[in-house]
Amino acid sequence: MIRDEETLNLLLDSVRRFVREVLVPHEHEVSESDEIPPAVVAQMRELGLFGLSIPEAYGGLQLTMEEEVRVAFEIAYTSPAFRSLIGTNNGIGSQGIVIDGTEAQKKHYLPKLAAGDIIGSFALTEPGAGSDAASLRTSAVRDGEHYIINGTKRYITNAPEASIYTVMARTDPARKGAGAISAFIVEKDTPGLTLGKVDKKMGQRGAHTCDVIFENCRVPAANLIGGKEGVGFKTAMKVLDKGRLHIAAVCVGAAERMLEDALRYAMEREQFGHAIADFQLIQAMLADSKAEIYAARSMVLDAARRRDNKEDVSTEASCCKLFASEMCGRVADRSVQIHGGAGYIAEYAAERFYRDVRLFRIYEGTSQIQQIVIARNMIKAAQR
Ligand SMILES: Cc1cc2nc3c(=O)[nH]c(=O)nc-3n(C[C@H](O)[C@H](O)[C@H](O)COP(=O)(O)OP(=O)(O)OC[C@H]3O[C@@H](n4cnc5c(N)ncnc54)[C@H](O)[C@@H]3O)c2cc1C
Repeated sequence: MIRDEETLNLLLDSVRRFVREVLVPHEHEVSESDEIPPAVVAQMRELGLFGLSIPEAYGGLQLTMEEEVRVAFEIAYTSPAFRSLIGTNNGIGSQGIVIDGTEAQKKHYLPKLAAGDIIGSFALTEPGAGSDAASLRTSAVRDGEHYIINGTKRYITNAPEASIYTVMARTDPARKGAGAISAFIVEKDTPGLTLGKVDKKMGQRGAHTCDVIFENCRVPAANLIGGKEGVGFKTAMKVLDKGRLHIAAVCVGAAERMLEDALRYAMEREQFGHAIADFQLIQAMLADSKAEIYAARSMVLDAARRRDNKEDVSTEASCCKLFASEMCGRVADRSVQIHGGAGYIAEYAAERFYRDVRLFRIYEGTSQIQQIVIARNMIKAAQR
């Protein structure tokens, strides 16, 4: 945890400089090659970017939520693929262990995740269970000191790179619903675990997803997260609550970058004898984007501070994810529009960001699922 503003500002400054001096110049290459150069990954490790949210006792920086979202604003100024690589170790790929893991699980896995020596992935989604995650069918049947896992997980971020997977599976396959779901740490080399081919995506080249397939995969019982059956879905939801705030912050950072690019282009590009920034219809797009980014940034900071104050921010996290990701989509669209034809051409970052940010409205709960969570919480509160 960073306890003083000066140390936090030093971290934010070094991340800001690293993003602008190292990551931004590599954006085009990463998009073309679909790979982040190993030397860049090594620099990300050195900066401590893999362990932002992992407790100090296990080698991480243990940032508060407010500190974490402020770092996310900075990292998201560049291609989301860079953020995606460190994103699972700081978020969905480690937080199940951080929040609900046993001491032995924490000691064994967290230092390696914090250092970036291994990558962690989060495997909830299945071919037949996306938004309705509680209907998942992957099974984990106890057999002595092991569980036998069978099933397929889909679209798993960083699965091709990961050494460990947090896997949600049904320990009582006969029972429907969330109460029969447990969470496991499964190591990559466990016999019976295989990966599908890497998915070809709309954007975020350099970040990879694929299926994770379990066929009679024998996992030690000691890898049941928290050593307790039936609470895995709760663990997953706690992880996602935090993840939604992080993604909302990423949306703010990406939108700020797109707006900065659009403003610069508008001031340079001339038509009808004027910079297009002189035209009020262009100004309206710039102004709407600025106001919406400011609103999203304020929301994210407020919700993060409330979470740090131990308030239940399930509603606020969904409000942030919903508003910030939809806002980011509108800013991306306006950025392409302000760039005119150039906005449709791959040479300009506007085209790439337009495709990259589309994902934010889909994963870690679609916009519709955020709406459902918000309304459901409102109704529940009104019934109390
Ligand atoms: C690039 C990428 C990375 C991902 N990474 C991960 C990961 O690391 N780990 C992981 O577990 N998952 C991951 N996912 C999966 C992601 O979380 C799901 O795709 C997402 O939750 C939506 O599920 P679905 O694709 O099955 O869509 P569906 O649930 O089939 O939804 C289709 C449409 O129906 C709507 N809908 C569904 N239910 C309702 C309802 N009740 N009311 C109104 N509308 C509804 C949805 O909003 C959506 O518009 C990733 C996905 C992608 C594309």
